[in-house]
Amino acid sequence: MKASSYPLFTQKNDPSDAEIISHKLMLKAGLVRQQSTGQYSFLPIGYRVLKKIENIIREEMDSIGAAEILMPSVQPSELWQESGRWESYGLELLRLNDRHDREYCLGPTFEEVITDLVRKDLNSYKQLPLNMYQISTKFRDEIRPRFGIMRAREFIMKDAYSFHINEKCLDNWYQNYKDAYNNIFKRLQLDYTMVDADSGNIGGSKSNEFHVLAEAGEDDLLIDEKGIGTNFEIAKAKYGSDDVVKIVNENNLIHKKGIEVGHIFKLGDKYSKSMELSIADADLNVNHLQMGCYGIGVSRIVAAAIEQNHDEKGIIWPKSISPFQIALVEIDGHKNESVRSFSNEIYQDMKRNSVEIILDDRNAKLGNKLHDWELMGVPNIAIIGKKEAENNIVSFKKRSSSEKVSLSADQLISKLDAD
Ligand code: ATP
Ligand code: MG
Repeated sequence: MKASSYPLFTQKNDPSDAEIISHKLMLKAGLVRQQSTGQYSFLPIGYRVLKKIENIIREEMDSIGAAEILMPSVQPSELWQESGRWESYGLELLRLNDRHDREYCLGPTFEEVITDLVRKDLNSYKQLPLNMYQISTKFRDEIRPRFGIMRAREFIMKDAYSFHINEKCLDNWYQNYKDAYNNIFKRLQLDYTMVDADSGNIGGSKSNEFHVLAEAGEDDLLIDEKGIGTNFEIAKAKYGSDDVVKIVNENNLIHKKGIEVGHIFKLGDKYSKSMELSIADADLNVNHLQMGCYGIGVSRIVAAAIEQNHDEKGIIWPKSISPFQIALVEIDGHKNESVRSFSNEIYQDMKRNSVEIILDDRNAKLGNKLHDWELMGVPNIAIIGKKEAENNIVSFKKRSSSEKVSLSADQLISKLDAD
């Protein structure tokens, strides 16, 4: 990629309407733009980060044996009436009518749709267990959308669903998803914790949430001396008080703020019963299937990662989700033929070695270019001016430090590999 022909949308001024740092930096660095309340477009740099996150999730889902699918975003009201949620879900469900006056909603979650899908195609218990997931747009008419994409109305979620002949099998798969989630958040290089949680609007018997730890988080997490965490929402009942300070002091707990990025549920037979999904087992006993569902807030993770990784200059991406591995910045390439051709040489060399590189060949001052890449959080920066071109080297610095070193092309590749 060459910056002169790549759409970058960094801004000089601080946005006035952003309350938290991730929202401010996402606007300033040109990752997203608001379309209307709670709805955002992802611009190229933001979308590259989102895709990186998606791919890590996809790899870990595939590796436990869940299969990717895609379901329609507009869902018929009949399915929600069957589950009873057409009434109970409330105003977060955005409802609409088609030209024949049939009622629909924009999918906020997909238990009804996938239960219907499976009941139509399941013929034998031998097809079980079934594990399927999608990565798609969800719509929830949130009462107070805020903090940019952190609490949006339209957002990207990975939602997986599992179907089992009995509870034991559900328990095993619940553990598989837990393990996969731990792998995902480790690979995303985020500081996170898992807690016991409330099942809310989705329902079921048992649920766990995954939280990125950050002051901007909206959830209160209470962690005991064994490291076991509980969301304050259920700790209230467990400890018989709704005073967080009192609960923490009396029970010797640690209080942390968390951003909910994942939530897994044992649904049991909640949907299989209400929507009549059952099958005969090997002994010819007919059972309602046991189900689980497993969500990850893919777009919310972009914001959560920034809350944890920034400084006064801007974002500092963890390597695993950075939009580019390195920005190669020319000094006056438009005026200096040797700078331009040496930069191109290094650029092609990096590309041949599968380094994700962007060459900043814009006709702009060095200071402004560096300011942009620091704001956008690219973890490695190499500079080529007259002196570097003459000596066949680049001046290299890491985003997180101010120390500069001179490197040859080969040294640069090994430096990037070694990270
Ligand atoms: P919250 O408590 O934050 O409202 P939730 O418990 O309603 O979330 P779930 O139904 O568990 O959300 O959805 C799975 C995941 O989707 C959440 O863990 C979260 O990461 C993400 N998510 C939910 N609502 C939003 C939203 N409005 N904007 C962005 N991501 C969201
Ligand atoms: Mg939740």
